[in-house]
Amino acid sequence: MNAFDQFEVWFVTGAQLLYGGDAVIAVDAHSNAMVKGLNESGKLPVKVVYKGTVNSSKEVTAAFKAANNDEKCIGVITWMHTFSPAKMWIHGLQELKKPLLHFHTQFNKEIPWDTMDMDFMNLNQSAHGDREFGHIVTRMRKNRKVVVGHWQEAKAQEQIAEWMRVAAAWADAQDMLIIRFGDQMNNVAVTDGDKVSAEQVLGYHVDYYPINDVMKYYDEVTDEETRALVAEYFKLYDHAPELEDGRTEAYTKVWNSAKAEIALRRVLKDTGAKGFTTNFNDLGKFDQIPGLASQRLMAEGYGFGAEGDWKTAALYRTTWFMSQGMPKGCSFLEDYTLNFDGDRSAILQAHMLEVCPLISEEKPKLEVHRLSIGIDSETARLVFTSKQGEGVAATVVDLGNRFRLIINKVECIKSKPLPKLPVASALWIPMPNLEIGAAAWILAGGTHHTSFSYDLTVDYWLDFAEMAGIEAVVIDENTTINDFKKELHLNEVYYLLNKALC
Ligand code: MN
Repeated sequence: MNAFDQFEVWFVTGAQLLYGGDAVIAVDAHSNAMVKGLNESGKLPVKVVYKGTVNSSKEVTAAFKAANNDEKCIGVITWMHTFSPAKMWIHGLQELKKPLLHFHTQFNKEIPWDTMDMDFMNLNQSAHGDREFGHIVTRMRKNRKVVVGHWQEAKAQEQIAEWMRVAAAWADAQDMLIIRFGDQMNNVAVTDGDKVSAEQVLGYHVDYYPINDVMKYYDEVTDEETRALVAEYFKLYDHAPELEDGRTEAYTKVWNSAKAEIALRRVLKDTGAKGFTTNFNDLGKFDQIPGLASQRLMAEGYGFGAEGDWKTAALYRTTWFMSQGMPKGCSFLEDYTLNFDGDRSAILQAHMLEVCPLISEEKPKLEVHRLSIGIDSETARLVFTSKQGEGVAATVVDLGNRFRLIINKVECIKSKPLPKLPVASALWIPMPNLEIGAAAWILAGGTHHTSFSYDLTVDYWLDFAEMAGIEAVVIDENTTINDFKKELHLNEVYYLLNKALC
């Protein structure tokens, strides 16, 4: 089953009645053919549903209200076949709450030079109809994505496909509960923020969940289900043979990790939460940080943020949701240690334990080692190094008056073994290089925690920021500190004035 089967994107064609009944029939036929072609392209993760041609303000408003009220509908694609005078879109656009993609395309690919007459011209008016529509959307300050290209071409279809994945994740975020086991790590600024604003702007709800209640679940996990999960670990992950010796402390730690995983998953299921945070100072009766559980729950798609970092937990859930079915994986990560090496200067990405095995290059290794933070104890974990290649790290920070999404292209390079630091890790060079990349990130106020993906490009995150209506800044191969600082300064003014002007 396709991960996005439960969703639809609606296709609404703009026209008007000026050109008579035959024109209306032709517009409808062309729209049907286009939607069929898009669905049959094999490029789109979400089904497109043609919702008819709108010829008046009433019809536009009815179509958009229906889109708002339909749970399956995660976004609307509009296209103007004929000239569609844009005042008729005002009331509908005032209503529309779903993400909007304006597809500037045309039924015919090329101009039929030899046969084109005035009837053809009157019917096929996307070139100026789409500009008229675009004008009113801009005047109304409505966020949207504009895709330009012929509907049969892969490049245009791929842009629509990206936007669809983002729209699906946006719909997911509007029904997202993140639960926090424990509070933020004391005194930490960047992982904290305004949870009320987050719900208003980004859609997700953040709750506290008492660790004592987790302990009730922990106590109720049976030996039988624990044994089954431990057996699954031994089957899935490389491990030393002596780890299977039930008389050892290491085995007990694996056993208790499995119990913790079962308990946490059950709490998440029972609350309907899509993500969670932990705090190493608030672990109830756990005998170790539930790092292995966090690693595995992340791979299942649960959002995770360490030390109470609910913003990153939510962003990771969004990252995972958007990239379902894509090949290379995603993870919560933390900037751990710098490696200065000229042009190859890099940052080791890791955490105490909680790195998602989806990014692993090799089969993860199940190991038990001492961890002195939180509970000083032997602690189970999956150890691996990440794949190589380009990826994107993203974070959301709360600047007090708004959220800022910071997006950094990075290159994951071959890491070296860490015999004395048995944790999962990645090693990356932030683009354009460590000096500029890290300086820009710091100037933008970015976290030490990120949500990382190999599969999602910068464009996905820009679409996400557009849907959320939040600021986005990109750090990539073209970034210079001088221009980046100017962008931050201009954005400061823009976002202060934006509310006043709209
Ligand atoms: Mn951390």
